[in-house]
Amino acid sequence: LVDIKSVSKNFKRGSEEIHVLSGLDVEVKKGEFLALMGPSGSGKSTLLNLMGGLDRATHGSVTIGSERIDQYSDGQLAAWRARNVGFVFQFYNLLPVLTAERNVELPLLLTHLSKADRKKHVEIALKAVGLSHRMKHYPRTMSGGEQQRVGIARAIVTDPTILLCDEPTGDLDRKSGDEILTLLQTLNKDHGKTIVMVTHDPHASARASRTLHLDKGQLSTEPVA
Ligand code: ATP
Ligand code: MG
Repeated sequence: LVDIKSVSKNFKRGSEEIHVLSGLDVEVKKGEFLALMGPSGSGKSTLLNLMGGLDRATHGSVTIGSERIDQYSDGQLAAWRARNVGFVFQFYNLLPVLTAERNVELPLLLTHLSKADRKKHVEIALKAVGLSHRMKHYPRTMSGGEQQRVGIARAIVTDPTILLCDEPTGDLDRKSGDEILTLLQTLNKDHGKTIVMVTHDPHASARASRTLHLDKGQLSTEPVA
């Protein structure tokens, strides 16, 4: 599903050029639940953002399904992203002025769905994360774990090809984090969602079907020494 070939990513910092990813290859198969680990600053978020078309590689090809997204214009990329990618963030990124159901509806406002159809999809997504009873509630009245479940409902409401999670349990205590991981596993196993999850937490990566470690611009199956 994901095929990344010889991808490099450089950032400019002042007059310096920093090489974050250097000629990296990675494949993610449909139905996989892949964990990405590695030291802080190793480029995990950078790689995730390349997979989701939130950022562009300096060199190399990024193919998702049959689409060479690295060759897309900014407009094509944004349209592709809206149809194919769900993002889950460490700090949920919910809008505080909107209820759970309005937050989850946001990605659907970019589609041509009718109001009634949007409502149906929102209900299905909130049910999938176990929050049907919290539809009308505001983020501030919810626990961190509940807010993250709203974040996941928002990420899956468009039925994306791939779910990209950047430290989804990073701001949660062990118990709430475990519930989020169980939910991600269910989405993977029962709903067939392909998931790539960045994490620092060995408890989290243990739930994935495969773990890769990023260090010095390259991926390896072994943890960093
Ligand atoms: P963490 O575990 O702390 O989240 P990470 O592995 O996700 O780290 P990235 O956020 O991908 O690391 O950053 C990798 C490197 O690239 C860092 O040195 C960071 O400072 C640099 N970097 C990331 N984004 C940018 C940017 N937009 N401009 C300049 N440098 C950047
Ligand atoms: Mg990061």
